[in-house]
Amino acid sequence: MESWISTGHLPNEAVVRQLVAEAHQRYGPRREGKVARYIPALASANPADFGIAVASTQGQLFEAGEAHQPFSIQSISKPFLFALICQAIGEREARQKLGVNSTGLPFNSVQAVERAEDGLSNPMVNAGAIAATSLAPGDTAEAKWAFIQEGFSRFAGRPLALDGEVYASEVATNRRNLGIATLLEEQEGIWFDPEATTDLYTRQCALSVTSHDLALMAATLANGGRHPLSGEQVVEPPICQVVLAVMVTAGLYETSGDWIYDIGLPGKSGVSGGMITVAPGKGGLATYSPPLDGAGNSVRGQLTASFLSERLGLHLLASRPASPA
Ligand code: GLN
Repeated sequence: MESWISTGHLPNEAVVRQLVAEAHQRYGPRREGKVARYIPALASANPADFGIAVASTQGQLFEAGEAHQPFSIQSISKPFLFALICQAIGEREARQKLGVNSTGLPFNSVQAVERAEDGLSNPMVNAGAIAATSLAPGDTAEAKWAFIQEGFSRFAGRPLALDGEVYASEVATNRRNLGIATLLEEQEGIWFDPEATTDLYTRQCALSVTSHDLALMAATLANGGRHPLSGEQVVEPPICQVVLAVMVTAGLYETSGDWIYDIGLPGKSGVSGGMITVAPGKGGLATYSPPLDGAGNSVRGQLTASFLSERLGLHLLASRPASPA
């Protein structure tokens, strides 16, 4: 059978190790950006924390800084949720129900629902992600949560737990996401109770991960859905292909064009300061650095992704890898 998995490999280990260390040294001193405050529990994050982890599809890990510092996954949950939903209902139905076109709007835009006549957006913004959450298999919120938490844990290769403080803090303040879910209901674009769905979405955003975990989760997407260390086939290879496609068009919301221009790889950011970049066939990069730009994307995360994509020769459209030292 023909393989669905992109091929290629990272440069040799010494080159990757050295470049990860260099990225950390280069961008650690940068002070631009602001820590997210609209979820009160995120405001206390340390702006100096900076972790980098690269996982190859063979399971080698390269880390620098606070790569084991836990934080809530936030919007980086979106590609993994979409993958699990595609696996459950098929990628054709998922596209038909959620849409896959970029909105050009901020992640939490209510307009994302009103923009198109059919109410569709894409699963990388809140509207599409909330709709995707409602499609999780199970008749009850508990059953859906079990599906989500187990699926995410398989992607990470270890059981992931909830950050209860972040969850409670966001539940107390997420009127906007409730508004999006209510609008979706009016458009018949949500398949479970809007309040219960918003609660599930919020819980999933509060799952606690580290850059180390996210690098392996990204590497699983790079590896046709097979976790590089556990060996588990979390989702089938064709699912990874469509997940990476929506990450390219909408992973960084309204700045996705700039992202693909500079980095040339599927990426996804989250408001707690995490970011993943997937090099199909090669590996996953994850960073943690809380200060964000105006679109809600980690400043040091973008700088690191840009540097490593270029120096490791990962740009999908054309690239020249660094030669061994
Ligand atoms: N839970 C956050 C929200 O819905 C996730 C957003 C993000 O990380 N961009 O607002």
